Amino acid sequence: MRYISTRGGIQPISFKDAVMMGLASDGGLLLPQSYPTITQEQLESWRQLSYQEVAFEVISRYVDDIPAGDLKELINRSYATFSHPEVTPVVKKDGVYILELFHGVTLAFKDVALQFLGNLFEYILAERKQTLNIIGATSGDTGSAAIHGVRGKKGISIFILHPYGKTSAVQAMQMTSVTDANVHNIAVRGTFDDCQDMVKELFGDLEFKEKYSLGAVNSINWARVLAQVVYYFYAWLRVTDETDAPVTFSVPTGNFGDIFAGYVAKRMGLPVETLLLATNENNILTRFINESDYSLGGVVSTVSPSMDIQIASNFERYLFHLFAENPDKVTGAFTELKEHGRITCTTAEMTQVRNDFCSTSVNQLATLQTIRDFFAETGYLLDPHSAVGVKAALDLLPADFTRICLATAHPAKFSETVEQSLGYPVPAPESVKELYGKPTRCEIMDADIDKVREFFIANIG
Ligand SMILES: *Cc1c(COP(=O)(O)O)cnc(C)c1O
Repeated sequence: MRYISTRGGIQPISFKDAVMMGLASDGGLLLPQSYPTITQEQLESWRQLSYQEVAFEVISRYVDDIPAGDLKELINRSYATFSHPEVTPVVKKDGVYILELFHGVTLAFKDVALQFLGNLFEYILAERKQTLNIIGATSGDTGSAAIHGVRGKKGISIFILHPYGKTSAVQAMQMTSVTDANVHNIAVRGTFDDCQDMVKELFGDLEFKEKYSLGAVNSINWARVLAQVVYYFYAWLRVTDETDAPVTFSVPTGNFGDIFAGYVAKRMGLPVETLLLATNENNILTRFINESDYSLGGVVSTVSPSMDIQIASNFERYLFHLFAENPDKVTGAFTELKEHGRITCTTAEMTQVRNDFCSTSVNQLATLQTIRDFFAETGYLLDPHSAVGVKAALDLLPADFTRICLATAHPAKFSETVEQSLGYPVPAPESVKELYGKPTRCEIMDADIDKVREFFIANIG
């Protein structure tokens, strides 16, 4: 399997090169040249497989430059860190199924991808005798999952900038309590955008980037999407153990990574009736799907902060397919976005979009109400992101369909909001209780690019 860019500017490359490249060198995103198909017969033969075995079946179809034994070992090691034997179990609550993606070390679904990516990086770097210095900005979830994905790994250092005092308490502790020598937390007196801007500036300095082998861990890495395709298959196998109703997924969406993984699963032949794209007030993708309106607005802060995004980076991967794999059309769309703040599609393209997805936006009031109501009716606590997906499913998906709602974070990770909704404290799992009182290491800094650069140079491995 070879990988190409949505902008058409690179020769096809191998899986390992795609992992190391991250963002395509022509500014596009990398995609496989084709999607392997899984037949109904093959799917049926996967029923008895463990999560790790399903992961190997899916992932190995995209990887032909890592020996099977090594790939199995990487997969097994990545998911051994999960606290549930099924890795991503599905539980039934009243009329919906909840796909619990939060049993990893940082209690959010990003662990599913970043545990795997951390091990992949280490494996490829060792083979190539290279080193990598990861720099990233986070509003909370990506940073903590990335830090836990690479902590203690050979050949890798990681520097994560987060806005000081603006993440949830648990998110901050999950980052700063990792005191491995290769992990560097920088708390910036400023906003997430300040952090993001400084990281962009560092990456924009190509000489600096080369000299210090900078790498990124944001959701544009193909390996992250690939790791997430697995749980769509796994969840489908579990729910169809007990029902024949058409299967639908509701996906709380920010960067379009998670839902794109669902789209890939469908392209591979997984029988999925509908993919529901759920947004909060930052609803550009909902406006696009329902009203053909992809125009940029400002970012609004909500109780589901990991979905507070206007420009969904992975959306470009979908556009590439929507535009019949024509890289010039993709480039043209992003030029239009830059110049006019919007992307326009033809009527035929919009028909295709509505064939692929349905969508609704859930506001904060409804999100908090859903946490309360769902708990009252089922005794099950949703985190605010998962609540957006559940509310969207209840509103939009027919009750006689199998409705699988992706639970992207554990409620204890956003306990401030859940408590605000319920009116009383959320029980903390052991892994959260253990965080309190752990020693922490974190550099608190002004939003000053020179200071950040200095700190980076002084601390690389
Ligand atoms: C990152 C994140 C999302 C959004 O996922 P995307 O892949 O960016 O669409 C939703 N919920 C939680 C808890 C997250 O951390």
